[in-house]
Amino acid sequence: MKTKVKSHLRKTKKGKRRVRQHYRKIKGGLIPKDKRKIFEFFAKQDIEYGGDMDFGEKKNKRFNKLQRFNTHIGSPGFVDLPDDYEVAWHVHPCYGYKTPSQEDMADFIHDLGNQAHIIFSGNTAISVVKTKKSNQLKKLSKKNLEKRYDSLYNNLENKKFNTKTIENIFINQLKKDGFKVLIHKKDAPIRLPIKVVE
Ligand SMILES: [Zn+2]
Repeated sequence: MKTKVKSHLRKTKKGKRRVRQHYRKIKGGLIPKDKRKIFEFFAKQDIEYGGDMDFGEKKNKRFNKLQRFNTHIGSPGFVDLPDDYEVAWHVHPCYGYKTPSQEDMADFIHDLGNQAHIIFSGNTAISVVKTKKSNQLKKLSKKNLEKRYDSLYNNLENKKFNTKTIENIFINQLKKDGFKVLIHKKDAPIRLPIKVVE
């Protein structure tokens, strides 16, 4: 999978990925409703699963459909994900927050390949998508990023807010940091504003 992706990529001097000109008109990746259910199945297990997604086959002028994905089996509360893919996904089983953890955010920000990260939790899904503004956060080390988001969670928990409120405030902070945060309604296809590299 990696080899194929690489063969279509040009590298800039700094080694960053660049999307070919003729792919720029495509607005993003699409996970159709029936495929979304597969990820919801993983989200209902009592351990974490996660992996990468690759978007290929052109559905219409605007979106490329999910073509393949891989799955890593984790443990309760943890799944290790390799970097360097367009989109990463993982599940948050029914306990805990639907929002990304401090470790999720630190890893995502420092993973130069990932443009978006989706978290499936029950029947809902939340996508966090990078922007130029959010990319500024790369200046902070992973450790500092973890601390930053960890202290936000801790503050909110100390104030005894309920889970839903904590999630909403956390999402607002991510938006302030420049991320696009998409909350995908139940049973709807998932559309991701990413640059698909074929
Ligand atoms: Zn997580």
